[in-house]
Amino acid sequence: MIAPFTYEALPMRVLFGAGSLDRLPAEVDRLGLDRVLVLCSPEQEDTGRQVAAALGSRAAGVLAEARMHVPVEVAHRAREVAAQLGADGCVTVGGGSAVGLGKAIALEHGLPIIAVPTTYAGSEMTPVWGLTEGGAKRTGRDLRVLPRAVVYDPALTLSLPAQLSATSGMNAVAHAVEGLYAPDATPIVSLMAEEGARALAAALPRVVADGQDVDARGEAQYGAWLCGAVLAATTMSLHHKLCHTLGGTLDLPHAQTHTVVLPHALAYNQPAAPGAVAALSRALGGVADPARALWELAGRLGAPRSLAELGMREDDVPRIAELAVASPYANPRPVTRDGVEFLLRAAWAGEEPSSP
Ligand code: NAD
Repeated sequence: MIAPFTYEALPMRVLFGAGSLDRLPAEVDRLGLDRVLVLCSPEQEDTGRQVAAALGSRAAGVLAEARMHVPVEVAHRAREVAAQLGADGCVTVGGGSAVGLGKAIALEHGLPIIAVPTTYAGSEMTPVWGLTEGGAKRTGRDLRVLPRAVVYDPALTLSLPAQLSATSGMNAVAHAVEGLYAPDATPIVSLMAEEGARALAAALPRVVADGQDVDARGEAQYGAWLCGAVLAATTMSLHHKLCHTLGGTLDLPHAQTHTVVLPHALAYNQPAAPGAVAALSRALGGVADPARALWELAGRLGAPRSLAELGMREDDVPRIAELAVASPYANPRPVTRDGVEFLLRAAWAGEEPSSP
């Protein structure tokens, strides 16, 4: 039986495929923009400048100051620069940090965003913004921050190092996993989640073996697109709450933390989420235990598998467990303090995932 559901499509235009960056100038014209500000991280300034050069007179400037979790002072500065330059839109070139900065500007000034993603984080598909002030991150949903168009060109991901490709890809798989057992899951979103997880699990070993394999890069980016759409359409549960707490409290790196925690959070939820287990079994090639399969995949990719190697101390485990259960949220299995502490200890030590 198909359970009743509500499905709302987000207004989103996607241009996909090797060479699609060539279509960016026409996309800027299509939105009626003629002075876009190009946003990127300092490490990707060269790429940002190349994109600006391709845009010619449509580019008002490049701001290469995007940083993880959008510090509020960086957002203020970007808003000022956009206003000074008379920008009428933003083109974000990069991962979640660049998109996040574009969203911070859109939230205040309503400037439309065209996103050119270069990681697998998926922020470009969501109307979710985040701002960090005094160590605390505020997030919210607002349709004004949803990019008007997204240009996925796998050529731009060829430079993403193997380690970051692996962890960014596992970060995307986490959106699919939690979308499959989300309280607001719908049949169409579950199809995207299963296909997104399948594409990434198939592509990531090939990407790590040869970062210049454009086919593998394309399949990974296709999976990341689907997983990002799942993130936008559903409410995330235990896994994302834990990663948010670990990142916000201990400043652990975003994609790596997702990679380590995912198999353990899934092992915790598997007994209460048979539909998600069935979909993930299919997606991962007929495996009996998806949580274990994801843990093994992380190992094959050479990705981190313990919170200890990310710099967390074992005596932080009780504090994080306490924080993670402080406010209730939907999860297929009731979230208990002891249960969370059990899974965090296993994740800290890098043990095989198991259910408490
Ligand atoms: P990121 O954007 O910070 O990028 C990580 C590093 O990789 C940066 O130094 C960047 O310059 C570099 N990089 C990116 N692409 C590269 C490439 N192709 N080649 C070489 N270097 C490259 O990291 P991320 O994981 O993409 O994004 C994480 C941030 O996004 C976090 O702040 C997270 O909270 C946010 N996020 C938000 C949403 C949302 O819906 N709002 C969704 C996912 C992630």
